[in-house]
Amino acid sequence: MQPSHAKYLFVTGGVMSGLGKGIVSSSIAKLLQLSGKKVSCVKIDPYLNFDAGTMNPVAHGEVFVTEDGGECDMDIGNYERFLNQNIPKTHNITTGQIYTSVLEAERKGEYLGACVQIIPHVTDMIKQRIRQVASEENIDVLVVECGGTVGDMESLPFLEAIRQMGIEDGSDRTMFVHVTLAPSLDVVGEQKSKPTQHSVQELRRIGIQPDMLVVRSKVPLDPAVKTKIALFSNVQLGNVFSCYDASSVLRVPQMLHDQMITEAIAKKFNGQKSTIEDGMKSWNGIAESFESVSGAVKIAMVGKYVKLADSYVSVNEALRHAGAKIGKKVKIEWIDSEDLGNLEKLAGYDGIIVPGGFGSRGSEGIIAAANYAREKNIPYLGICFGFQLATVAFARHVCGMQDANTTEISPQTKHPIVDLLPEQKTVENKGGSLRLGAHEISIKQGTMASKLYGSVAINRRHRHRYEFNKDFQAQLSEKGMVFSGESDSGRRQEILEIPTHKFYLAVQYHPEFNSRPGFPEECFLSFIKAASGS
Ligand code: GLN
Repeated sequence: MQPSHAKYLFVTGGVMSGLGKGIVSSSIAKLLQLSGKKVSCVKIDPYLNFDAGTMNPVAHGEVFVTEDGGECDMDIGNYERFLNQNIPKTHNITTGQIYTSVLEAERKGEYLGACVQIIPHVTDMIKQRIRQVASEENIDVLVVECGGTVGDMESLPFLEAIRQMGIEDGSDRTMFVHVTLAPSLDVVGEQKSKPTQHSVQELRRIGIQPDMLVVRSKVPLDPAVKTKIALFSNVQLGNVFSCYDASSVLRVPQMLHDQMITEAIAKKFNGQKSTIEDGMKSWNGIAESFESVSGAVKIAMVGKYVKLADSYVSVNEALRHAGAKIGKKVKIEWIDSEDLGNLEKLAGYDGIIVPGGFGSRGSEGIIAAANYAREKNIPYLGICFGFQLATVAFARHVCGMQDANTTEISPQTKHPIVDLLPEQKTVENKGGSLRLGAHEISIKQGTMASKLYGSVAINRRHRHRYEFNKDFQAQLSEKGMVFSGESDSGRRQEILEIPTHKFYLAVQYHPEFNSRPGFPEECFLSFIKAASGS
């Protein structure tokens, strides 16, 4: 490995989960990026799964797919959206990956003679993974977010590894930022410093003295509480930052910058102070565009995991990116496809979106919704499962194939409109075995897709095991469905549209992963434009 000049900024979390460590990490990375640094982020997930691919999105949040086909934690999506930069899959490190590498090395005989232990072998592997990212990508500052809460048993090897990096790489190249909470009890309204003090004590017990604290609270931190936190946590007052509830997460970089966090980080890293005001202005302009929206566009999102906003965070974000671009507020209502009931309840929406999904539960509701949108001329955007089931709905209701289905739901159907990818037929493992990551798609000229992309070739990310069965293409095309994008030299269909419809577009890929604030992905932009009638 090439020695790297990188500096490492480690972000840990205390008190409880869900404090927004991901947003703090992304915001700090954004400020460093605006300072002209080559920056990236790494997310450590201390669970034993190899990656997030097999986890239920309702319990864990969405699986974010990277350009290079990683199935990652949703924080990687935050980093990409804040930095407007792709993050490779190596940036999501899990306990499962570390142990796999250690055990593989052990089997190869790389530790011959040694008793393989958490310290040093596991911790060495963790350090190697982090340093490798910095060195391979020639990064100036790598922000490393440690998932979990200090005190969790699972994160101990990671905290030990970053503690060691503090010693080995030196204090001017490493920095520890701890994110905590100052709760206030509603009756008294007083902000409490004790949880932060205890959490810092816990961190110090394992040998890490934080250089900086970012304290979450409802309203700005009271100066007296801040002073108390600084004194009892052994952190300089100027390095205690208040991160209070904001109108939008995009406002957090400016909030921290106003308190001079950019200068404090530069000072710690012996760096030059650089002005970032121009960059801040354009970032804040984007943040502003999300707030100066009016006249709601009502979108029904129909699917199985729709109850938890986090399970489709990138789709939600992409819809809002599109709304902000045209000055419209997008109101998303989640409709559980399992108890859709009377379809007429979809009549009041300006658009219907069906995001990705798996399995038979709720699929009949999705097929009904895709058909309803077509019949009632309501703008429809289908993504992955929403693409596949749109072809099933069309085959059933327009082409008269009543038992049409995907073999994922009905393996015996006489009309397998959607079928397993041929290369999947021999696949046995569930983890990491879908068709993943970015593939090139060529778009037919003269179609709606070519108009909205303004291009005949795009690259988009995938995550699927089934695909449209080309044996049925002629029958569906004859009845008016246009297949306007394909990949792998025409082997796979990637985009469909119905030209006689106001807006009926579905894609096999996941456009949501390419959408960024200020730069909405084209499908979403056109969908929201159509839904808003503009
Ligand atoms: N279940 C479908 C497949 O495996 C769709 C996947 C998805 O929507 N991400 O092909």
